[in-house]
Amino acid sequence: MKHVAEGMQDFYRRLTKDGYKPDDVKPALYQVERIVHMEQLRRHILNCMDCQLCENAKNRVPGTGNTGTPLMIVGEGPGEDEENWGLPLVGISGSLLTLILGKAGIRREQVYMTNVVKCRVTDEKGKNRTPMREETLECSKYLRRELELIKPRVVLALGKVALQFFFPDMKTMSQFRGNVYDYQGIKVVPTWHPAYVVRQRGDALAKTKREVWADLKVAIECAKGN
Ligand code: SF4
Repeated sequence: MKHVAEGMQDFYRRLTKDGYKPDDVKPALYQVERIVHMEQLRRHILNCMDCQLCENAKNRVPGTGNTGTPLMIVGEGPGEDEENWGLPLVGISGSLLTLILGKAGIRREQVYMTNVVKCRVTDEKGKNRTPMREETLECSKYLRRELELIKPRVVLALGKVALQFFFPDMKTMSQFRGNVYDYQGIKVVPTWHPAYVVRQRGDALAKTKREVWADLKVAIECAKGN
């Protein structure tokens, strides 16, 4: 099978030889190469058995969405609905996130959504549990690759697990949200995970909603290059 880079070089030679301008050919081939790599990554993740988290997992859940987006949204890991349906952020918290994005004028298809961990992490009773940082390390390679291929301007990091993927020393969301950080040239805006928002009531709910909204607006400005 032809290697992707080799294929692109061949297509570049053939298209420029046929008179197409290099400045038109290069961005077109860049897009093609990216979606091919993303599909290869997706297939690889679907068959992954690289750590113990797959032992109880029914499905791997790769990222999904617009691979040309300036805004990537990174959550913790799949819950029960995500595992069953094979997509990230499609349960109650993902639905809330979609609602909030919509209020900000963004359709979820416009952005790319993924998780730090691609397998569901459960406790002995089969309930969702937060993965320990050591458990996330093996799977982090996939998120790193997604970042490398998509090259977003900004990441909205949902919850502590996502925040600690980027900045392991940042231990609490309440201390670090409300700021923009730099991760290898990508802006990172931490905010509450929508699953946390869903669990709040009364004044705490109102406050959390306000903070998520403010963080999302900051992320959108970063995505615009501001
Ligand atoms: S958690 Fe990640 S690294 Fe571990 S088996 Fe699942 S997909 Fe592979």
